[in-house]
Amino acid sequence: MNLHEFQAKELLSRFGVPIPKGRVVSSAEEAGRVTYEEFVLSGIPAVLLKAQLHAGGRGKGHFVHADTGEPLLFNGTPVRGVMLVREGNIADKAYRLALLMLGNRLVTAQTGAEGRRVRLLLIEQAVPIAREFYLAITLDRSRNRPLVLLSTEGGVEIETVAAEHPEAIVREHIHPFWGLQPFQARRIGFRLGLEGTQLNAFVELLAKLARAYEELECSLLELNPLALTADGRFLALDAKVVLDDNALFRHPDLAALRDIAEEDPLEVEAARHQLNYIKLDGNVGCMVNGAGLAMATMDMIQLAGGRPANFLDVGGAANVERIAHAFRIMLSDPNVRVALVNIFGGIVRCDRVANGIVQALQHVEVRVPIVIRLEGTNAEEAAQILQRSGLQFHVARSLDDAAQLIRQLLAQLETAPSNVPS
Ligand code: GDP
Ligand code: MN
Repeated sequence: MNLHEFQAKELLSRFGVPIPKGRVVSSAEEAGRVTYEEFVLSGIPAVLLKAQLHAGGRGKGHFVHADTGEPLLFNGTPVRGVMLVREGNIADKAYRLALLMLGNRLVTAQTGAEGRRVRLLLIEQAVPIAREFYLAITLDRSRNRPLVLLSTEGGVEIETVAAEHPEAIVREHIHPFWGLQPFQARRIGFRLGLEGTQLNAFVELLAKLARAYEELECSLLELNPLALTADGRFLALDAKVVLDDNALFRHPDLAALRDIAEEDPLEVEAARHQLNYIKLDGNVGCMVNGAGLAMATMDMIQLAGGRPANFLDVGGAANVERIAHAFRIMLSDPNVRVALVNIFGGIVRCDRVANGIVQALQHVEVRVPIVIRLEGTNAEEAAQILQRSGLQFHVARSLDDAAQLIRQLLAQLETAPSNVPS
């Protein structure tokens, strides 16, 4: 589960991690008032307005109008996801910038071309920076233990650093029982060229972050950048925390931080019906029972020249309602050009699946060809149910057969005009 930057920072500050002073706002009036009352009146001369959304790259991103898609400008320059406000009447500037940011869409390298609507802004004290670092703690699955990653290239994505300056990345594994040792933190500090009080401050900070990572049960804790300020303090200027979904049941307070508005609506809907649904970027929707069959089915789709649009596992004990929900979810993805149902009837009988599909089709408008392969218990009854329904299906007898059908249908779509609804 992803958290917003402001939530991540609030959690980290409970572990003693230093963060800049900040306030979250949801309206332009509030942005202006908070900037004046909380910052200007405290003698803070500059603030940052930071769009809160579950996507990075905000600093290089740009805002577009929610309806027209026009790029938004402030005093002739693009409105970015992170805006520095200084000089003059900063409360008034914050108000006018927030008017442009809130309710409009931010486009970054991670949001897709459409961008995503911004509903919250973090207003934060701007701090003069001397040095910026990249710092992350994440799970190294190949070593079965957490890994601390540090780079002197703060503000730059770690993938870019790894590709262009691999020598700039320092790594230390955390022993799952002993935890991060002070000598390890010092070793990283030396490699970054820190000494004296700065080195001590760094060792202390890293211990707090390692504790936060463990106690919050994160799968990722990333500060990019971690800043060394002009007056020699470490400060988490940006924070990204991803919590381990499988540990959330132990942390109801953390689970309550979920922001459903930031999640894929179809994934939220699927989770409500205990369906495993993962959105992918292809064009063939696939509804399958069991993860193993899902993997094999996706390989098959790929071999047939298609790409899976999703992974929808209805599980072993699906009932008619669940099948119906699954079917509706699969078909509501606008990227799906062909839908494939590949179910092996073991515990869930084929006739039940067929009934679920027929029932679902009474509530959804079908705008794509559907290939169905039902094999196993009561496959014959299932075939009859599908036939009696009078609905149009392409029935596949085997996986090979299904692959052939998908290949043909995709080829027909390439030559036919697009049937994507307007
Ligand atoms: P991201 O682009 O989504 O990763 O957003 P960040 O929170 O990392 O902000 C983008 C950039 O703004 C950072 O890499 C910093 O260089 C800069 N920045 C963030 N906070 C401050 C600050 O307090 N002072 C200054 N001078 N720059 C900042
Ligand atoms: Mn960042």
